[in-house]
Amino acid sequence: MGLQLLVSDVFAADNILEVSQSKQMPMSLTEYFAVFEDPSLMLTHTDVQKADIAARFKTDFPAGEAINLDFSRSAYWLRLTLRNASDYPLERLLEIGYPLLSNVQFYQPMANGAYQSLTTGLAQPLTTRPYPNRFFVFPITLPAHAEQVLYLRLQAADVIIVPARLWESQAFHRYERNDYLVQAWYFGMATAMILFNLLLFIALRDALYLLYVSFVTLMALVIATQNGLSKELLWPNTTQWSDMSSLILDSFMGVAWLLFMRRMLNTDTFIPKIDQFLKALIGVYLLSVVAFIIDLQTFVQPAIVLYLATVLLIIGIGFFCAFKRQRSAYFFVVASFILCFSTALNALMILDLLPSNFVTINAMQIGSALEMLLLAFALADRFNLIRRQKEEAQSQVLMAQQHLVEHLQSSERLLEARVAERTAELHALNRKFETLSITDALTGIANRRHFDDVLASEWERASRLNQPLAVALLDVDWFKKYNDHYGHQAGDDCLRTVATVFAATVCRTGDVVARYGGEEFVFIAPATDGEHALRIAEKVCAALHALALPHALSDYGCVTASIGVAALIPREGDTAEMLLKSADQVLYHAKEQGRNRAVLANASLLIPPKKPHASIQ
Ligand code: GH3
Ligand code: MG
Ligand code: MG
Repeated sequence: MGLQLLVSDVFAADNILEVSQSKQMPMSLTEYFAVFEDPSLMLTHTDVQKADIAARFKTDFPAGEAINLDFSRSAYWLRLTLRNASDYPLERLLEIGYPLLSNVQFYQPMANGAYQSLTTGLAQPLTTRPYPNRFFVFPITLPAHAEQVLYLRLQAADVIIVPARLWESQAFHRYERNDYLVQAWYFGMATAMILFNLLLFIALRDALYLLYVSFVTLMALVIATQNGLSKELLWPNTTQWSDMSSLILDSFMGVAWLLFMRRMLNTDTFIPKIDQFLKALIGVYLLSVVAFIIDLQTFVQPAIVLYLATVLLIIGIGFFCAFKRQRSAYFFVVASFILCFSTALNALMILDLLPSNFVTINAMQIGSALEMLLLAFALADRFNLIRRQKEEAQSQVLMAQQHLVEHLQSSERLLEARVAERTAELHALNRKFETLSITDALTGIANRRHFDDVLASEWERASRLNQPLAVALLDVDWFKKYNDHYGHQAGDDCLRTVATVFAATVCRTGDVVARYGGEEFVFIAPATDGEHALRIAEKVCAALHALALPHALSDYGCVTASIGVAALIPREGDTAEMLLKSADQVLYHAKEQGRNRAVLANASLLIPPKKPHASIQ
């Protein structure tokens, strides 16, 4: 008892916390701390208890959330005097809600007055913590009617902030559960966004989604590291890495953020000069990682300046692009601004410039979640924009195709029309050629070739139908003399006239009139007997004679013709040549009998065909 009274005498200036009086829990301990800075890092717990040093502890910190000891390589000794005036021992939890303290030594007096010490901190394995939590939590037992002086020795790579609170254990458990619930909510959301955008990247193959995934992953990791969760869950047993992880991850997040911004705002084409600078800045960030590994303490402060400058630069570029009416920049600026704003809120709360409440405590998580959502929305918007552009391009292609198809169709129609025209012309020409090929050029009636064809087919038909077939050969009389007398030209004219008369006289359907050669003509009369054919032939002779074309050297004084007629019903062994030959024979007879007449071949005159092998016999 005497010792304890002595203690309060020695630290008369210390603000003693009366724990037993039921004040509102948790209680901030800021105003109860006495603090001593040890730049030498050499002083031991025994040293700081000595009267000369003990008296140099600074007291009278204003009531608030935390003691902010700023950047320092020193070790800080914190002294806290607790009193339990009640009749019962009290169990309490002392929480230091700042997880980035590299080394934390906790000294608590035992019943005999000797101190037991406990060494933990970020640079120590998690197992050194007396209470497993993302923060540093020390269980304290205060005996009844006792006063205790507790010591804390703190060291950090970064700033030293001491938001210390005293909890009743049940209240702490409630608070702890809610705290972890908020963390779980945030990291669950981050995981969902990461996985979803990773799937989008796999599906869409747009590197921007991968950059988003990297950025969000690193942002979540940074937050987890800064609020002590990484140490608790990801790398509990690391020491050096735990100490430098926060800054290294900060730098990597900076790289991811810059890369994401460059791609999203197309800075390489939009602001190429600044983009070059951004590339260099990314290089600096990567170098900073190496620097942290080499000497963390030296590079902490320059790095913090670099981070702040980068944040300003990123927001500045975002504003510039938004000002230049870049659609993605609107989202980007708002998202970045929210993250910075929320980080600032959190920092101000820690530095005691803002009250601590749900929003300020979880500002970083809230800001980060909002940023993630906004950026995801920006990606969706961008996807939409690209899709719309694609659709427009597609519809243009479609229209062009339509035009092409229409054009092709019309030219095809044109081509078809031309082909049809040409085909018609060709048909007409063919018909003409056909006609020409069976027409005699001089007289315009059928030629010998056509006559042969018709004779063959009529012969066939007559044989089949057992009908008579008649042919008649016409020869112009004394035509050589006509030629000699009137000239060849006049001879041709005469032949044309004879053909006209001949064709006009032999005019029943089925009859065919042809020029046989020279001044000889021929006609075929199907289904016609000899008598009938003879009458036709006589009509021809009469018509020509009646025309009275002058022929000075003819016995008749005009152009006349002789005709030999032959007809038969084709029988076995008969041939068309035989029939023709008979006609030729009687033509000869007609000439002999004085010309200008038609003679019918007697049936007996028809010469039987010579059997090829008869002469051999
Ligand atoms: P005939 O009374 O015995 O029939 O005596 P012809 O002079 O008529 O008989 P020939 O066979 O001796 O003469 C036929 C003449 O027909 C010979 C030839 O100059 C003439 N001739 C044959 N073809 C043509 C032609 O295409 N044009 C002209 N102008 N004369 C032709
Ligand atoms: Mg002749
Ligand atoms: Mg003649």
